[in-house]
Amino acid sequence: MPVPAVATGYGCRLTVDLGAMIRNWQALDKVSDGALTGAVVKADAYGTGIDASSRAFYFAGARFFFVATPDEALAVRAALPDAFIFVLDGLFPGAAPLYVGERLMPVLSSLPMLEEWLVACLARNEALPAALHFDTGMNRLGFRLSETSIVKRMCDEIGYAPQMIMSHLACADQPQHEKNRTQLALFASVKAQFPGIPASLANSAATMTSRDMHFQMVRPGIALYGGRAVNGRRNPMMPAVTLEAPILQVRDAKTGESVGYGATYTLSRDSRIGVIAIGYADGFLRSLSSSNQHGGGRAFVRGKLVPIIGRVSMDMCAIDLTELGADLPLPGEMVEVLGKNISVDDQADPAGTIGYEILTSLKGRYSRGYIDSSETPTS
Ligand SMILES: *Cc1c(COP(=O)(O)O)cnc(C)c1O
Repeated sequence: MPVPAVATGYGCRLTVDLGAMIRNWQALDKVSDGALTGAVVKADAYGTGIDASSRAFYFAGARFFFVATPDEALAVRAALPDAFIFVLDGLFPGAAPLYVGERLMPVLSSLPMLEEWLVACLARNEALPAALHFDTGMNRLGFRLSETSIVKRMCDEIGYAPQMIMSHLACADQPQHEKNRTQLALFASVKAQFPGIPASLANSAATMTSRDMHFQMVRPGIALYGGRAVNGRRNPMMPAVTLEAPILQVRDAKTGESVGYGATYTLSRDSRIGVIAIGYADGFLRSLSSSNQHGGGRAFVRGKLVPIIGRVSMDMCAIDLTELGADLPLPGEMVEVLGKNISVDDQADPAGTIGYEILTSLKGRYSRGYIDSSETPTS
């Protein structure tokens, strides 16, 4: 896999392992056996970079891509001239000519959207491919189930066969949740009304846990990027993202002194503090702050996990290096805040969020580099 050149700079460094993502896609493709495996690359491919990541999944074998917006679709189209691209947000009013021109497939989720698309089909005398999204219990996007017969009638009237029907699960990260079975049963009843049309229901979690939800295409996102899809289980995916921040300064401070804005953290011992150049403006969430009452995020320095102490500020935060003794990092030395030693979910949990938000917050002042670990000789 040819990877773009690694950038260099003085600030934080984000390294995306395209080889790990390729292997993650291939692992899910194996699990989903009889179904096609798509790749969800919305939100700049979960923060990893939509261009390089889409190309990597294509290289792995993916041909079906899911994005949220038309702009994201155009980015995938520019990278991959013959990919099949579904736009999850649907058809924006007046956007049909753009979709047709760029061969984008809207995921239609309301009667006005369907109407507009069918009008475009009639005008061009062509069955333009699109997916139909049915809401089976999430109340996000999708036709209401009571609209199924109208949807069917509108399609039949002009002899239109959709490319795919789909729905989305609310609780797939909790495989035992009864809502999964309810949604599956409702989706099966919709599918029965569209005989012969391919169907898609599974996100990462359902792909990994529920063979009966695979249908004809699975739509994994988070698992491709190494995030935890299923709660309460070991995450088998390879981490794909490493984020490192440079040490700006190492300083000594005394018992009773406080650290950072708001003086939320008071030292209970004489301490050695490292100041690292990453803050909430870099997507290192302010909710990773700690106080004497609440733990926060972590960093990995010289072989040890150490806590963030005090508030995360815009451009920097403090870590407690006291436990390192004399083995101290030097200014400029890189400290891991995401990677092999701290997963996106390890960092998400204390911040009260999910790996998805940690990943999609990765933007801003990084030098971004791509590697393919499968090509790196192991030492
Ligand atoms: C984001 C999204 C997915 C991917 O979900 P993951 O949990 O990241 O695997 C699949 N389908 C739809 C409709 C989505 O919005």
